[in-house]
Amino acid sequence: MSRYYCPFCSSRYQFHKTRSEGVLICGQCGDPLMKKNFINTRQIFGAVAASAFLAPLLIMIIFVINDLNKEKPLRNSESVVVLKF
Ligand SMILES: [Zn+2]
Repeated sequence: MSRYYCPFCSSRYQFHKTRSEGVLICGQCGDPLMKKNFINTRQIFGAVAASAFLAPLLIMIIFVINDLNKEKPLRNSESVVVLKF
């Protein structure tokens, strides 16, 4: 089970046991094993990809909000003008 590792012992001298409950533990210190964090690189990639997608979106949203704030008084005056007609 190379997917799991003990965070307290050096990886060279680790041997893994399975407890009676089916939990993987370290053979040296008896602590439950941690999942290897190669998911972290995926998470980093995911975060980078997400930020690459989200950054323009956020900028768009900021621009839209700014435009709305600018347009609101204009729209109100327009609607007032429409109401007058
Ligand atoms: Zn250990």
